[in-house]
Amino acid sequence: MALPDRPFYVVLMGPPGAGKGTQSAILENEMGLKRVASGDLFRENLVKGTPMGVQAKSYMDRGELVPDDVTVGMIRERLTRSDCQKGAILDGFPRTLPQAYSLDRMLGMAGRRINIAISISVPDEVIMERMTGRRVCRAYGHVYHVIFNPSKDPQICDVDGSELYQRDDDKEDTVRNRLYVYYKQTAPLIGYYFAKGVLVEMDGNQPIEEVHGLLGQIMASQA
Ligand code: ADP
Ligand code: AMP
Repeated sequence: MALPDRPFYVVLMGPPGAGKGTQSAILENEMGLKRVASGDLFRENLVKGTPMGVQAKSYMDRGELVPDDVTVGMIRERLTRSDCQKGAILDGFPRTLPQAYSLDRMLGMAGRRINIAISISVPDEVIMERMTGRRVCRAYGHVYHVIFNPSKDPQICDVDGSELYQRDDDKEDTVRNRLYVYYKQTAPLIGYYFAKGVLVEMDGNQPIEEVHGLLGQIMASQA
C-alpha cells in the first residue's frame, strides 16, 4: 500500500481487544507509516523505570486512564521525532475528548490534521475472550492469542525469540473496568470524529486477515 505524498495521520479507535495493535503493526510494515501506541510507550517507560512509567503503572493496573497532561506530553514529544515526519498511525491515542482537542491543536500548529479516524467495533463477549487469551512478547510487544493467533511455541515470540507473557491488565476484572472506561471516556470520540467528517466505522469481529483487507480498502480510499 503506497504512502500518500502528504503527511498522513490515522487514528485507530476501538475498545481494548478490538485489534488496534495487531492491525496497526501490519499497516506500519506495509505503509511505512510509523505506529505510535500510547500503551506501548507507557510500558517502555515502565521497563526503563522512568517516573512517568511508574506513575502510569498505577493507573494501568486498575484499568484506568493515565491523566491527560502526562499522556499528551508523551505523545507530543513522540510525534515531533523524525520518524513521524510523514505522519503516524495512532494506536490507543486519543482516548478522551481533551486528548483529541490537544492532538488537533498540536497538528494544526504544524499545518497538519487527522486524515482518518477508524473505529473498530467488536462485541463485549468477544473482547473478553480476546483479552484473556492475549500474549505479548517481552522484547517488542508483538501480539499473539493462544487460540486465534498462536505462536509456534506457546512461550516464545516467533519474530524475535523473546518470552511471551500475559499483561497484568489483561486479567478478567481489569478488562471489565477497561471496557467500562472505554464506553465512558473514549466512545464519545466517535461522535467527535464523525462531526469532523473523518470517521469510518468498521466491523472488527472477523478474522485478522479479513479485518486487514477491509482496513486496506479504507486506507486506499482516503489516501
Ligand atoms: P488492542 O490493541 O485493540 O487492544 P490487540 O491487537 O492487542 O487489541 O488484540 C487483542 C487480542 O485479540 C490479541 O490476543 C490478538 O491476537 C487478538 N486478535 C486481534 N485481532 C483479532 C481478530 N480479528 N480475530 C481474533 N483475534 C484477534
Ligand atoms: P493499551 O496498551 O492501549 O491497551 O493501553 C494500556 C493502558 O495504558 C490503558 O489501560 C491506560 O491505563 C494506559 N493508556 C494507554 N493509552 C492511553 C491514553 N491515550 N490515555 C490514557 N491512558 C492510556
